[in-house]
Amino acid sequence: MTEIYEAMAQLEADVRECRQCDLCQQRQNAVPGEGNPESVIMFVGEGPGADEDEQGRPFVGRSGQLFTQILEEKGLQREDVYITNVVKCRPPNNRDPLPGEIAACRHYLDRQIEIINPRIIVTLGRISMQRWFPGARITQIQGKAKNIGLGRCAIPLLHPAAVLRDPRRRAEFERIVARLPGLIRRAQKANEEAAKGERLPAGVPHPEDTEAESPPEQDEGLQASLFDSL
Ligand code: URA
Ligand code: SF4
Repeated sequence: MTEIYEAMAQLEADVRECRQCDLCQQRQNAVPGEGNPESVIMFVGEGPGADEDEQGRPFVGRSGQLFTQILEEKGLQREDVYITNVVKCRPPNNRDPLPGEIAACRHYLDRQIEIINPRIIVTLGRISMQRWFPGARITQIQGKAKNIGLGRCAIPLLHPAAVLRDPRRRAEFERIVARLPGLIRRAQKANEEAAKGERLPAGVPHPEDTEAESPPEQDEGLQASLFDSL
């Protein structure tokens, strides 16, 4: 699958040189994302902070270290997943990215999703959640998967910085991350079966979700088992 790696390397190079919004002016380094482009899961944060800007790598500062630690404790290695952000350059003083900046940067995230073709997209924090759960409140939907079509689900999580600010949120955050390895294995199995042509790609809608747009054709048994592990 060298095309996947080549496409991702090209995208990362494009991001590093990008000047399509004003965030390019104060950055030290753009932060395209990193990890395994063949992963079935990707994590999408908000935007680089000071440490990320300095190193050109996502989630390496304080909240990133907490995030990495929780992933590892729950059996996930950073190298095995793909990690990126909604905007690839640091907003000054860590302010929220502006709608225009999010819009300007969106095509990079779109391309990353296209290249990776993940089964599971985990959003970290409100800004990232808004794309797939517009108007939702994180406290009400955290951990609930939503069918976003094309055999993919999105799962909203708090931003790890919010867990740092309020350690009472950590247990719930960890509980959801702990369920991801099982979900990943099932997604990998679904891909293997789809590749063999034995089954259609399986979507992973949440049973309570009624607003999913045009759900893809699904394998009922597999779908149920995916949700058993959520
Ligand atoms: N916060 C984010 O949203 N992304 C990072 O990469 C680091 C901190
Ligand atoms: Fe380009 Fe995105 Fe950086 Fe703006 S934030 S300069 S669109 S890479």
